[in-house]
Amino acid sequence: MAIDYTLDPAVENYRMRIEAFVREELLPLESDPGSYDGHENIAPGLLETLRAKARAAGLWSLQMPMARGGQGLSVVGMAACYEAMNFSIFGPIVFNSAAPDDGNMIVLNKVGTDAQKARWLQPIIDGKVRSAFAMTEPHPGSGSDPAMMLTTATRQGDRWIVRGRKWFITGAEVAQHFILIARTSDDARKGLTAFMFDRSQPGWRIERRIPIMGPEEHGGHCEIEFDGLEIPDSERLLGVGDGLKVTQIRLGTARLTHCMRWLGLARRAMSIALDYVAVRENQGRKLAEREGVQWLLGDAAMQIEIGRLLTMRAAWKLDRGDFARKEISMAKITVADTLQRAADTAIQLCGARGYSKDTVLEWIYRYARQARLVDGASEVHKTVLARLLIDERDDFWRW
Ligand SMILES: Cc1cc2nc3c(=O)[nH]c(=O)nc-3n(C[C@H](O)[C@H](O)[C@H](O)COP(=O)(O)OP(=O)(O)OC[C@H]3O[C@@H](n4cnc5c(N)ncnc54)[C@H](O)[C@@H]3O)c2cc1C
Repeated sequence: MAIDYTLDPAVENYRMRIEAFVREELLPLESDPGSYDGHENIAPGLLETLRAKARAAGLWSLQMPMARGGQGLSVVGMAACYEAMNFSIFGPIVFNSAAPDDGNMIVLNKVGTDAQKARWLQPIIDGKVRSAFAMTEPHPGSGSDPAMMLTTATRQGDRWIVRGRKWFITGAEVAQHFILIARTSDDARKGLTAFMFDRSQPGWRIERRIPIMGPEEHGGHCEIEFDGLEIPDSERLLGVGDGLKVTQIRLGTARLTHCMRWLGLARRAMSIALDYVAVRENQGRKLAEREGVQWLLGDAAMQIEIGRLLTMRAAWKLDRGDFARKEISMAKITVADTLQRAADTAIQLCGARGYSKDTVLEWIYRYARQARLVDGASEVHKTVLARLLIDERDDFWRW
């Protein structure tokens, strides 16, 4: 096997076009308070204008198959492009590559029947609807441990009746299409099943939009109650008992696309700091000339590159049909830390200005804290790695 770190010319072409779009169309908007909605995300009207521009530029839903209106990008291609998108805090959503739609599209494309894809997937690809993924529950239900799931789907003829509670469901206030994971039996391994439902169906309600410390995705993070939602059996994803499988298929790539985007945000934070230390003087010298500053810069540069290498290796394995479990866990743990450290370092280097709202650094800093929690807490991923190491011993590091 030849190891080659150059990007395929077609991917490089997309990456460069995204970089130019972000620089010309998105970055200037970030400093205008009029660009934001009430939850520190891009305002809906502006978003629609920019999504139309991204589509016209051939930069829309890149991760989806060409036959469905995407560009059929490989996971390696996504890694290069998503990083470029998230150089702006508005990037991923404008190109239709933001969570949770991104992960939902990827899993529906992998596991949906043709009829399910036409009904549930295509409108998300086309940007006509938004979507949500409902799995996590408040105590004593499931969080890190899916086996603790309490929300039930009970079969009645050709329908399932759902009762229970979910929370932290990103985007629920604006989502039309929902993927739901619910308990269908007490079987330890095959007890969960995945379903689709539409916002307009009766039998569920949003109890509250949970306030969080960071800027919010559109539709917030909601607590939801199900009190008799009816789902036809035809809207089940894969088989009865395959809920965990659907979740693993979704989260595998979704965790990695988080890493791709977070690397872009980390680079952006450092870029703001680099601009400042290049001009700011102190005792007759630029900050960038001071060794103490250089150590911070050098460390951040190295951490970001380590995160990229782990992310790219996991992407490469996914492209080859491997689940890349250990590679994805290592990338997720590392890049979550890298993002938080890069935002912190950049604020430090920018002095008081870094702590202000004159730049997006404080936005990135508050956003970054969720990275170590979402889609598996870092400690849980380390447990996964430890289990694999104990099982595989020296084989853990096989080439
Ligand atoms: C911003 C945000 C968006 C989210 N969006 C969604 C969404 O759209 N859909 C959805 O279903 N969920 C969503 N979640 C929920 C998220 O997936 C869960 O928070 C995550 O899986 C952890 O579950 P928990 O919060 O219940 O933590 P718990 O399971 O209560 O764990 C708490 C802490 O205990 C430690 N811990 C837990 N298990 C272990 C272990 N085995 N070994 C060592 N330490 C451990 C970890 O430090 C962990 O952070 C979101 C969360 C956030 C913060």
